[in-house]
Amino acid sequence: MSNITSPSAAPYPDEQLREGAVVDCRLLRADLRDEYDYVVIGSGAAGAVAAHTLAKSGASVAILEEGPWVKTRDFSDDLHTSFNKLMRMSGTQILTGRSFMPLLQGRCVGGSTVINSAIAWRTPEDVIESWQREFGLGESVTMAKLDPHFDALERDLNVHPVNDDVLGTSNRLFVETAKAIGIAGAPMQRYERGCKGSSRCLTGCPSAAKQGMNVSYIPWALSLGARIFSSCRASKIEVRNGRAVAVHGRAVDTEGGPSRKVTLIAKKGVFLAASAIQTPNVLRRSGVRNSALGRHFQAHPGLATFAMFDKPIDMYFGATQGAEAIDFRKSDRFKLETISMPPEIAAIRVPGVGREFVERLTQLGNTAMWVVQVRAKAEGVVRPGFGGADQVSFSLLKSDLEQTRKACAVLARLYFAAGAREVWPGIYGVPPILTSPDQVRLIEEGPLDSRSYSFIATHLFGTARMGPDRESSVVGLDFSAHDAKGLYVVDSSIFPTNLGVNPQHSIMAISRLVATQVAEA
Ligand SMILES: Cc1cc2nc3c(=O)[nH]c(=O)nc-3n(C[C@H](O)[C@H](O)[C@H](O)COP(=O)(O)OP(=O)(O)OC[C@H]3O[C@@H](n4cnc5c(N)ncnc54)[C@H](O)[C@@H]3O)c2cc1C
Ligand code: SF4
Repeated sequence: MSNITSPSAAPYPDEQLREGAVVDCRLLRADLRDEYDYVVIGSGAAGAVAAHTLAKSGASVAILEEGPWVKTRDFSDDLHTSFNKLMRMSGTQILTGRSFMPLLQGRCVGGSTVINSAIAWRTPEDVIESWQREFGLGESVTMAKLDPHFDALERDLNVHPVNDDVLGTSNRLFVETAKAIGIAGAPMQRYERGCKGSSRCLTGCPSAAKQGMNVSYIPWALSLGARIFSSCRASKIEVRNGRAVAVHGRAVDTEGGPSRKVTLIAKKGVFLAASAIQTPNVLRRSGVRNSALGRHFQAHPGLATFAMFDKPIDMYFGATQGAEAIDFRKSDRFKLETISMPPEIAAIRVPGVGREFVERLTQLGNTAMWVVQVRAKAEGVVRPGFGGADQVSFSLLKSDLEQTRKACAVLARLYFAAGAREVWPGIYGVPPILTSPDQVRLIEEGPLDSRSYSFIATHLFGTARMGPDRESSVVGLDFSAHDAKGLYVVDSSIFPTNLGVNPQHSIMAISRLVATQVAEA
């Protein structure tokens, strides 16, 4: 039996779990009924932090997670294997609208934190002010209330700038060039302990250095007495007399075996943390009816550009995402970042045909991949899809595409300033290879049609908005659904807007704030 209650945990905390703390629902031989103070749905950023905070207060806590617990020792850098094990729909989800946009989400213990890049950003003050001023959040979410939670999270998850020895060439080149041309590029702040710079965050950290929820708050919550039911999908929350009283779920991935029912009675409350895509449909299935439900979906669509240099860049050594520039967040609604993607993904974007293509492919070690994250104004809708899936429609606005174009042009200039021989914008309608800074204007004059850009969505918000009245919001100022007391929604569904910075830190801080308030009430 382990006693891992603190961040000083052993290197592989997912190997040292209290006996009985994990119920793998694929193996259930009969229906199951159990009773806890709180039931938490989802074990990602929001759910793990809520579960740990509640368990620490002495409450009995159950966590329901649809995905399996994939242990560190079972992570694979083979994309097919990894996407199948860790991602929702094996990574094939899409947002539909004017164009198709891939949507990546984790579906495993730890949620999307298992596959993410561990970048930590406190919620910008102007965002909180706009939530207070324009969306009526008042004193519910203030910087003063969030700051102690950010402090605690940063201590627990060892947030610090990327160490110089694992910065790697691509990240270093970005920082040095940005500074040289007057952009405030800097190493990222990340949740990690002993990052080895393996560039494998997307397929699960092989050394448990990344402080995903699978090796941090979930094991810590279990050691405090919480129990996790993995491979169990919450079908609905039972609301009786206006109060959440139980969660009903079913075992999934039983490979032909019977799918057992799981009923968890919640004596004090339910914390819903299934993510901004799944949460609105869980609420719908639970009988919540509200005109704002599923609406106001927002994202930070991301887009990669590549460049080829005359020297090795070796993007496969260094923190997966290690450098960024935030200068343009307020003025132009975008953020610049470096990234490293597995060769199977990077190769898709190599331009040219025949011999030319093969030559570039052999020089993949000389390429860098830098990305833009756009704080899009567009809003979409999440609806129930076929067979229990979640369907999201989302089309970017012209202004979002204008910001995208500008961001890609800034990146192209940055690449040339860094000495790139070729820039590959990857924009249909713009030449696939640019060879001089004069040609960057072709990006600036590029198409304003989302079908010309290869966006991807990973930052998701707004589908069960928080606000003072039930006409325009789903969740009230006490973080409880308007029509179901004790049903707390703690993921980014409740955010009235997107942020312009990476969301995990804001999600965890708000979840910790809510769980603390509820536990102390
Ligand atoms: C590739 C990638 C890279 C990213 N990089 C960063 C980064 O570096 N920094 C950052 O701040 N953000 C990053 N993000 C975003 C960040 O990971 C998410 O914003 C964050 O994890 C969302 O937290 P969450 O708890 O709402 O959802 P998730 O972390 O996605 O967790 C939700 C969990 O709920 C489970 N679930 C859903 N429905 C049910 C159900 N009905 N029953 C039971 N369980 C259910 C899911 O299986 C999942 O495990 C990245 C995301 C991706 C995909
Ligand atoms: S870069 Fe590699 S070692 Fe560092 S956190 Fe990511 S997967 Fe882990």
